[in-house]
Amino acid sequence: MSAKQRSIAVVGGGFGGVGAAVMLKRQGYEDVTVFEKGERVGGVWQHNTYPGAACDIPSHLYEYSFAPNRWSRRFSPGPEIRGYIEGVAHRFGVFDKVRTGTEVRSARWNDERGKWVLETSAGPHEADVLLTACGQLSVPKVPAVAGLDSFEGPAFHTAQWRHDVDLAGKRVAVIGTGCSAIQVVPAIQPEVAQLDVYQRSPGWTFPKGDFEYSPRARALFKRLPALRRLDRASVQAFQEFGAAAMTSKPWLLPVLRAISKRQISSAISDPELRRKVTPTDEVGCKRIMLTDDWYPALAQPNVELVTERVGSVTADGIRDATGFERPVDAIVLATGFASHDFVAPMEIAGRSGRTLAAEWSEVARAYLGLSVPGFPNMFLLYGPNTNGGTGSVVNTLECGIGHVIAALGEMERSQAGQIEVRPEAAEDFDQELRAALAKTVWHSGCSNWYVDENGNDPSNWPWLWSTYRRRTEKLQPGAYALSAASAPVASSALG
Ligand code: NAP
Repeated sequence: MSAKQRSIAVVGGGFGGVGAAVMLKRQGYEDVTVFEKGERVGGVWQHNTYPGAACDIPSHLYEYSFAPNRWSRRFSPGPEIRGYIEGVAHRFGVFDKVRTGTEVRSARWNDERGKWVLETSAGPHEADVLLTACGQLSVPKVPAVAGLDSFEGPAFHTAQWRHDVDLAGKRVAVIGTGCSAIQVVPAIQPEVAQLDVYQRSPGWTFPKGDFEYSPRARALFKRLPALRRLDRASVQAFQEFGAAAMTSKPWLLPVLRAISKRQISSAISDPELRRKVTPTDEVGCKRIMLTDDWYPALAQPNVELVTERVGSVTADGIRDATGFERPVDAIVLATGFASHDFVAPMEIAGRSGRTLAAEWSEVARAYLGLSVPGFPNMFLLYGPNTNGGTGSVVNTLECGIGHVIAALGEMERSQAGQIEVRPEAAEDFDQELRAALAKTVWHSGCSNWYVDENGNDPSNWPWLWSTYRRRTEKLQPGAYALSAASAPVASSALG
């Protein structure tokens, strides 16, 4: 069989799944099926519909390189991004390849048949190649707060926004002060009667510099595509500066800290509030949050920043750790995502039935974030250690898809039926990765969603983004084993 005739199953219909379908189609791979459990394509942008949701990477980098868009703003709002992904799926002819409303519950490698067998909510499906594009931030994390179930009003996560609940004139509590909270708080503050924002530990911020593109600017970007490319390149360069500061050049961090401190002092005059929002940990340890309106919102008279821990939730309020109770009508949980299991709750079983969950019992890991020994013909897009404190995930996804295309091309050249990363290559990469991670700012002692409670980091890429591109664009000699049938053969093309 020609590699181009291979069937490819993709799990997830967000930026990763749609991007994979388009990039594969452009290379001649037509037998691609994308499974999306939601009713529409869009991934996180389909789920995160909370007020104020917008990207925090300038849109000219937060878009597919093959589908430049005429964005309305420098940082486009969620609905526009959702529409863009849908539009790309239509324009590039892959919309019909997406099976929405279909959840993949498990995927098992059948060694005899050399195929992945998927169990989906619509029945079984077989494919030669499996790509996961589930995102790292798709499973909402609800904190174990005593009494949360006994609250009589609406309580919901930012990623499960209750649009049927009218917050106007209500007393609202927002728990959490991460990237989601700093967007939702300024968006709802003007309409609610009282807003209690529960902060466990503050994060550093950076001015977002968001603005609407004038019709003239949009026309210019259209007439001069080089201008858009220049803008994209300059944003990328700034992201690389941030990546360098956080990974290998910590002497750059004071520059970021100074800008952040200045943002606080120019937005907040109350010294007590300034003190409360100023982090004591290193800048960049938590994700730096881009915002223009977070501090002005906190300084409004109807907002209280509560720095006491959440003690418990009562039928109609929140009691803090000192026992003081603030009555509320609604609770918004801006408490982040369960990000360390990657493909969960889907179960993936490779050779001999060994599951990815068992393989990752200590920490999730994958060669270049993409492939795992014992799991042939499987690639994880935006998999372990491909996130970062900076950079555009769309760019990362394109690099990963490019790697998959390189792997499929190698299978075609070698007339191989299977490709699998060699354990030695995966182990060498892992050691190199862990050594580099230990030197990054993310491990400097704050609480962040990258590092787990045991100090393991299954999340972040500890080098520059240009390094990720360079390392993924070709298959390294010796990294993968190719074989005709079930067991990898010694004389593989790359071995
Ligand atoms: P997050 O960064 O993990 O923030 C969760 C917040 O909830 C933190 O402030 C955390 O406090 C707090 N929290 C968690 N459990 C708590 C508890 N039991 N009591 C009190 N506070 C609690 O989650 P997120 O804001 O959803 O953002 C996650 C990631 O999603 C971001 O880093 C970013 O990569 C992405 N994101 C992107 C955008 C965008 O614009 N593109 C928007 C939103 C999110 P601690 O800090 O003390 O742990």
